[in-house]
Amino acid sequence: MKDLYIEGDEIRDEKAPAGPVAERWDQRRFSAKLVNPANRRKLSVIVVGTGLAGASAAATLGEAGYQVKSFCYQDSPRRAHSIAAQGGINAAKNYRNDGDSIYRLFYDTVKGGDFRSRESNVYRLSQVSVEIIDQCVAQGVPFAREYGGLLDNRSFGGVQVSRTFYARGQTGQQLLIGAYQALERQVQAGTVEMNTRHEMLELIVVDGRARGIVARDMVTGEIETHFADAVVLSSGGYGNVFYLSTNAMGCNVTATWRAHRKGAYFANPCYTQIHPTCIPVSGDYQSKLTLMSESLRNDGRIWVPNEAGDTRDPREIPEEERDYYLERIYPAFGNLVPRDIASRAAKNVCDEGRGVGPGGLGVYLDFADAIKRLGRPAVEAKYGNLFDMYQRITGENPYEVPMRIYPAVHYTMGGLWVDYDLQSSIPGLFVTGEANFSDHGANRLGASALMQGLADGYFVLPNTINDYLAAGPFEEVDESTPEAGEAAEAVRARIDKLLSINGNRTVDSFHKELGHIMWDYCGMERNEEGLRKAVERIRELREEFWQNVRVLGENEELNQSLEKAGRVADFFELAELMCIDALHRRESCGGHFRSESQTEDGEALRHDDEFAYVAAWEFGGTGEPPVLRKEPLEYEYVEMKQRSYK
Ligand SMILES: Cc1cc2nc3c(=O)[nH]c(=O)nc-3n(C[C@H](O)[C@H](O)[C@H](O)COP(=O)(O)OP(=O)(O)OC[C@H]3O[C@@H](n4cnc5c(N)ncnc54)[C@H](O)[C@@H]3O)c2cc1C
Repeated sequence: MKDLYIEGDEIRDEKAPAGPVAERWDQRRFSAKLVNPANRRKLSVIVVGTGLAGASAAATLGEAGYQVKSFCYQDSPRRAHSIAAQGGINAAKNYRNDGDSIYRLFYDTVKGGDFRSRESNVYRLSQVSVEIIDQCVAQGVPFAREYGGLLDNRSFGGVQVSRTFYARGQTGQQLLIGAYQALERQVQAGTVEMNTRHEMLELIVVDGRARGIVARDMVTGEIETHFADAVVLSSGGYGNVFYLSTNAMGCNVTATWRAHRKGAYFANPCYTQIHPTCIPVSGDYQSKLTLMSESLRNDGRIWVPNEAGDTRDPREIPEEERDYYLERIYPAFGNLVPRDIASRAAKNVCDEGRGVGPGGLGVYLDFADAIKRLGRPAVEAKYGNLFDMYQRITGENPYEVPMRIYPAVHYTMGGLWVDYDLQSSIPGLFVTGEANFSDHGANRLGASALMQGLADGYFVLPNTINDYLAAGPFEEVDESTPEAGEAAEAVRARIDKLLSINGNRTVDSFHKELGHIMWDYCGMERNEEGLRKAVERIRELREEFWQNVRVLGENEELNQSLEKAGRVADFFELAELMCIDALHRRESCGGHFRSESQTEDGEALRHDDEFAYVAAWEFGGTGEPPVLRKEPLEYEYVEMKQRSYK
């Protein structure tokens, strides 16, 4: 094992205050240095990403008076992947009077993450959640309302209260419109400069500080350098390393991976979330999977036939011959167990031969009871657009036959390591949203990603980045600064290399094969033998990629083949680190299930004595093993115990 990595010194989060957990965020806001409004105009910040995390950060920093440069690779900030979020956003408002509180959201999130997140961060997230809803309502986000006019709530997995705010099945879109209009207001005011269709391909580090980025204009191919006093990465998650996932096709790891190679630690890369309710894979030529929102588990019941190989029409299978396995195994939480647990349970029943649909890789999500209980109009009002989407994709009418669902890659809890201030291990480089590792431990609870992205962007970063910027403006840097020239040159050389190989295989064929390796060996279940095999095969495939990939076209044009090639090259390196991380963590926790470490009834078995830490990986150099730095996790407020949803 130790041949694959080196163990370095332990690290600590130096920024998190001590003292009562409920007072830490207040304390930090008070102790963090401020920048007076007149001085903010002299300071600049680059924000890469215009999803919920990036747009909210750029808008808020612009409003505060900083000079912001915002980047995204889409043609509009509004096309960021956040727009796809369906189900909702959590907040501890307790509007339902069902026993919710900031403490309960904190508790649920720490437990849901299987005790692999930081208490300080999660408590702050729960506190700030309450403010997010007020902020979004003030922006005009049309959250669903009850008959009396109050905001409505529903439940998501891993909790027994209703704290999820939603806008039909389009919550991400509505929240993003809110953040986008705030961003555009700043563009109009001249505090934010928007750079669409620009892909960050390198980080510029000068004298140990993040001072800029190298970006490619995706229309002309021009390689540009941009400079600032600080850089914020809000570039989203890396689930597409698996090729098939519910993420938007463009989601990638390049921004964070390039920063990792420049010194930013990458934390817990193996923590991946496999979502239980996705439309099953339907064929070899598929390049994208579709999520059916977790909110459907509020009213839909999940089942498979009792007998393996039962191919009857589901409507002909009588009640007593059905196994509502989640309700049976987890009576307390039923269909609303956390995602990692629901996904593994689906895999188990399919492994037993009881899966349904083509290939037996599916389980039913059945609304017959809900339609009988609530009536079709009520079900339509809650989930109509999701039902329509399902019908368009599968050709089946879910009001009449149960949906078929199967787990798929959905979210990545791992990401760049950040301290309590959201600052990475490179001074001046901050990371927000899905791109950082901070709050979800080994498993994220549903509707908590939107909460975290907006907490980071609207509330946390704008209060912590001042502490760093107060020492600025830093020494002037420009194209003539050697580090900037070298970074731009490295980008050009890599593009030239990719275009010159002229081999026989498409970028997609490599990506697909990589995805298969990751799904087979580093997916829902992992073990020592498989992970070792995966590391070997990834290395071989990467080698072949650099000899035999065929990248069409030229740099000086819109070239999607070239864009993908760069991203897949980074996925190769990330994939290897994910497998090494999964190999070294010889325990199961949350979404990381090692078959060697399970309880008698097949649940994830943690080993807190050995693994209660964040695994922060330092880049060891090209071709050199990575360096593992452990950040110990301590629990003062939530007792670490075996998770139980029974
Ligand atoms: C189908 C689906 C449904 C979901 N539903 C929910 C839900 O209901 N509730 C919930 O809480 N979570 C949900 N999630 C998760 C949630 O949507 C994401 O975690 C969240 O939106 C990520 O936001 P972000 O701002 O961090 O990143 P993103 O929205 O992914 O934005 C990334 C931004 O970075 C930019 N970018 C990336 N790399 C570069 C680069 N190299 N150069 C320039 N720009 C770059 C992109 O252009 C984009 O603007 C869902 C996820 C999926 C896939």
